[in-house]
Amino acid sequence: MAEQVRRRVLVVGGGVAGVTAAARLARAGTPVILLEQGKQLGGRASSGALPGFGEVDLGFHVLMRTCRAARALLRLLGAEGDVRFQPRLEVPIWHAGRVHWVESHPLLHLIPFFFRFGHLSARERLALLRLLPGLARVPEASAADWLRSLRIPPRAVETLLRPLLLSALNGEPEEVSARYAAMVIRRVLLSPRGGALGFFQVPMSRIWGRVVPLVERAGGEVRTQARVEAIALEGGRAVGVRLKSGEEIPGEAVIAALPPQELVRLLPEGERGFLSEARKIPWSPIVCVHFLFDRPVLSLPFLFAPGLPLQAAFSVTRLQGREGPEHVAAVLSGARDWLEKPPGEVKEEVLDSLREPAPRARGAHLLSSYVLRFPHATFLPAPGVDGRRPYNLTPIRGLFLAGDFTPTGWPSTLEGAALSGLSAAGTCLSPLDR
Ligand SMILES: Cc1cc2nc3c(=O)[nH]c(=O)nc-3n(C[C@H](O)[C@H](O)[C@H](O)COP(=O)(O)OP(=O)(O)OC[C@H]3O[C@@H](n4cnc5c(N)ncnc54)[C@H](O)[C@@H]3O)c2cc1C
Repeated sequence: MAEQVRRRVLVVGGGVAGVTAAARLARAGTPVILLEQGKQLGGRASSGALPGFGEVDLGFHVLMRTCRAARALLRLLGAEGDVRFQPRLEVPIWHAGRVHWVESHPLLHLIPFFFRFGHLSARERLALLRLLPGLARVPEASAADWLRSLRIPPRAVETLLRPLLLSALNGEPEEVSARYAAMVIRRVLLSPRGGALGFFQVPMSRIWGRVVPLVERAGGEVRTQARVEAIALEGGRAVGVRLKSGEEIPGEAVIAALPPQELVRLLPEGERGFLSEARKIPWSPIVCVHFLFDRPVLSLPFLFAPGLPLQAAFSVTRLQGREGPEHVAAVLSGARDWLEKPPGEVKEEVLDSLREPAPRARGAHLLSSYVLRFPHATFLPAPGVDGRRPYNLTPIRGLFLAGDFTPTGWPSTLEGAALSGLSAAGTCLSPLDR
């Protein structure tokens, strides 16, 4: 094999993990071939055309300011300005007919929240301080058991912590581990600026598409609609891939940036053993309902509504600084119960509950709507999940893993995916594995 070809790295999967790995390798001057089966880059964080809406993020995404690897990726792609962050954490929570704010102040930190979060009594707010010593020693238990052991009042769980954990971890406190819950509390509630939310200003796949010139400048190539059918092994080493079209592409190393249940199909049966624990990682669904109203209906750019089918509603139009007909994205996390319902029923129930915090939706004309289901939206960070997350270095020489499910310390997020891509690229470049 010619030297140029031997140094080539193949990245399978053009989600955020694969895009990050490709960008990082290209920056280091390595020729990369990035292979994505879909028409666009982005995987679970893709945008696409919805008739009536134009190009939209199919599953609405939010980025926290504290996500350093994802922000590094945006910088690498020259797209830092494409996400607009709040100056500080400000989250409206609609409950029992009123909005109260979870907010932080750069100097006073969460003190305004303690005075102003009226969904809880002063006693209940004070009881939340028990989280502070609790964070020092987090048991290997569910978040619900941990919060109960700290005697956090049930109303504080229902109006504040359940919606926070559900949106950040895509699971109920009964399902997710205390360790991940503690991480979310630290990063969102206890980090003065880090918890601030960022909103994408342009469709996400366009951002990830900026990796193309970066890769090409380093002598590589990005190929969409290129489904990999097999990873070729020779003498226990990854030496290339075979596409569905039959084309074989040689490479010195392969970064597999796709979920374990998909990767396993690309490997010969006898070589799948190292994924046996990863395949047991449970996954959790999200349902995203897109509404297009003929006029503005939300009084705030976004809100969380614990206890309502709606859960959370984002005015994509306002968050992107536009006016006119309002695109509202309703995000239903941990949406197992919604997967089997007919789309019409999902739409009606969600629309009905949207009318509570957004009464203007009653008089508005619905121009268009879509119910999109993501059965494998994120892995569920259940107790014990860390023992199942596979490292990016595999027993097969020249084969590296990337993906939000690898052990990044983060839950299933853009940040986890970006971290895994950086880490896989770094391991692949390291002379240790040559
Ligand atoms: C609806 C929804 C909302 C979300 N909201 C948020 C949020 O607000 N904030 C946040 O941080 N995270 C959010 N997430 C999670 C986030 O999107 C994921 O953690 C992240 O995108 C995972 O990236 P990845 O690259 O690890 O995996 P993936 O995106 O799954 O990438 C894998 C890629 O591999 C490709 N592929 C698979 N098989 C093959 C093959 N044989 N050949 C070629 N290509 C192949 C797939 O098409 C895909 O593009 C959300 C996810 C969903 C679904």
